[in-house]
Order: sequence, then C-alpha cells, then structure tokens
Amino acid sequence: MITEHDCIKLDQNDPLLSFKDQFDIPKNILYFDGNSLGALPKTTLANMQNVITNQWGANLINSWFNDGWLELPKIVGNKIAKLVGAEENEVVVADSTSINLFKAIYSAVKINSDRNVILTTNNIFPTDKYMAKTIADNLSKTLITVNDDVLLESLNEKVAVLLLTHVDHLSSKINDMQNINQIACKKGILTIWDLSHSVGAMKVELKKHNADFAVGCTYKFLNGGPGAPSFIFANNKHNNKLQTPLPGWFGHKKPFDFDPNYYPAGGASQYLCGTSGILGLTALDSGVSLFKNVDLDHVRSKSVSLTSLFVNLINQVCANKFEIFSPINSHERGSHVSLRHERAKEITDNLVKKSVIPDFRPPNIIRFGFAPLYMSHIDVWKAVMIINEII
Ligand SMILES: *Cc1c(COP(=O)(O)O)cnc(C)c1O
Repeated sequence: MITEHDCIKLDQNDPLLSFKDQFDIPKNILYFDGNSLGALPKTTLANMQNVITNQWGANLINSWFNDGWLELPKIVGNKIAKLVGAEENEVVVADSTSINLFKAIYSAVKINSDRNVILTTNNIFPTDKYMAKTIADNLSKTLITVNDDVLLESLNEKVAVLLLTHVDHLSSKINDMQNINQIACKKGILTIWDLSHSVGAMKVELKKHNADFAVGCTYKFLNGGPGAPSFIFANNKHNNKLQTPLPGWFGHKKPFDFDPNYYPAGGASQYLCGTSGILGLTALDSGVSLFKNVDLDHVRSKSVSLTSLFVNLINQVCANKFEIFSPINSHERGSHVSLRHERAKEITDNLVKKSVIPDFRPPNIIRFGFAPLYMSHIDVWKAVMIINEII
C-alpha cells in the first residue's frame, strides 16, 4: 500500500526538488503535459525583455554582430550537445523538427546513395513518416515501415537509413539506441534518432552509441516555449560528406560575402538555413540553461520514480479500470505513461475541468507526462485521487 505520506517522503528525498521554484506554474493546476509543452522558466521573460529592449530596441541591426545573435544558434546548440552526448559544433538549432528531419534523412540517404531503402517503424510520429515518404518518392527510394517486433530482423544490406524515435510518442517505449546502432553499423546502415521525447528527460549518448544523425523538439522537456526552434545533430565523422537539401545563406561558409555560389559551412552549421529567430532562440536558451547544473542521472531516476509511482497508484486505486499502454518495466519506459480506456476523451475532458492536465490521443489513449524538473510525487498522488473520483 502506497500512502500519501510515502509520496511526501519521496519529495523530501528528491535532489531536484528546488528546481520547481525555477518555473512559473499556476498553483491550482496539476500539469501532466510537460512532454508536449514544457512549463515557463522564470528567467524566460526577463531574458526576452532584455533582448527586445536592450538589444533589438537599442542596438538594432548591430546586435547581429555585437550582441552575439549570429552565434546564438551554435551556442544554444552546444548547450544541447552536452545533454545528448555530442561534441562541440555537432549540434545547431534551427527550424522545426519536421524540417530538420527532412535535412537529416536527405543527408543520410545521399551518403548511402548506393542503397535503396529508408526503414522506419509503423508507430513512428506522423511527421517523421511524412518526411521519409516524400524523400523516398523524390529520390527514387523505397520507404519500408515495420512493426517494432521485427525491426532488428529488417536491418539488412538494402537499408540505407534507419529512422527511429528514441522514446515512442504514444506508448513511451524506449528504443535501445546502443544495441540498434551496433547492429545497424555492422550492416552499413546510417541511423537517425528523433529525440523529441527523450532530450531533457534522460541521458542520451549519441557519440558513445555511434549515432549518425539526430533531431529533437525543444518545447517539450527543454522548456523552450511554444514552437521553439528544433535541434539537429550530425556526427562529425560525416563532416566531409554532408549535403544539406536546403542550402540557405545562413548555412553558407561566409554568409556576409553574399556569394552567388553556395559553399556550405563546415559540419552541422550548414543545417542553418535562413535567418535565425532570435526571440525564439532566446526563450529556448533560458530553458536549456536551466540544465547547466543538473545531473541527468538524477533526472532519469526521478522520471522513473514518478512514472513508477503513477503506474503503481493506478493499479492500487483504480485497478482494472485502465489498460496501461506503456511498458510496465521502467527500464523500457520514457517519461510519460499512457492509459487506455474506451471513454478516454470524456475522462480527459473531466480531468481538465478538475485542473488535471494530461492529453488525449485518439481513439482511446490518455497520456500523462512527467517532467522531472518541476513535478513532485505528491502531484501524482493528488492526480490519481482525482482520476479515481472521475472514473
Ligand atoms: C513533438 C514531435 C515532433 C514535432 O515536430 P515539429 O516539427 O516541431 O512540430 C516530431 N517528432 C516527434 C517524435 C515528436 O514527438
């Protein structure tokens, strides 16, 4: 039997407890959507106000050079690199995840151009599949999508590129990056990892596990704000073979030479395309900077503690009312838990009325996200009591 007191005790022993104070979260709500739109860091408003008033407002165009705007997508990229196990200059921030997927898939297909197949899974996030499909169609390749359970046996010498999400957006299942990359690498397959649901929620080791490309959202666990610009990683072992499909002037070696011919900047920098959105980058920088002194092992253990508490409380309090759609084994589970119920939509609507905010995914899933930096175990207790009341 888990008690309310147990939850209070878990919070007292939480090394990340003080981070909650770094966010502005309305007192009256229980927020379970940090995996979809992260909360507002307290520093964001002041940082944006500074950039707007003291840089844009006072220095106008000089800010590109004098206030570091030109370097900002690389500076923030380097901060994200530390969270995903990448080296300096392997990560830049630009555009949306969808567009970065396009750049990464195209680049990988071009490097492995003597092969014909782009492989992904049936349950991958829709935009990932759409991007893979349009590249396959336009470059005379074949997109093959398979179920998770036959993924490893589908890795063969015809496959040019394997596109996977690290943590599944619906089920929360973690794909084993180390093992999959090892097999892919042996067969000459390049890997692209979508880290949207793992960056900021767990340690990611792109270099150690030999990933070729990666992309990810920053408005989820990195708290960059609605529609915050995405990041893209290219392993620097490919630097002399990278070929962006979107050669924009910001990815040129010397943008301010206004050269009529395109010469790409080195490495991942060529994935900068058009002029960087400095206000969005400023908000993102505020979210990412909060991770500066955070131990990602603490983040992961708290995430596991929160999701496990939720699963155990659901089983204790409303046993058999829901099907737990996420892995029961915490090693295989990311930082959200999905419950299946035939009246999921109605239950979600009623939860929102009671200020518990998860999200509904058709046709029958309620998804609860657990942001380790600002959620506490007592939030989980309170929410499960309300879920039980509603059910
Ligand atoms: C959230 C999410 C996206 C969103 O892409 P945008 O272009 O930023 O809208 C893409 N892929 C995955 C796996 C996601 O979870």
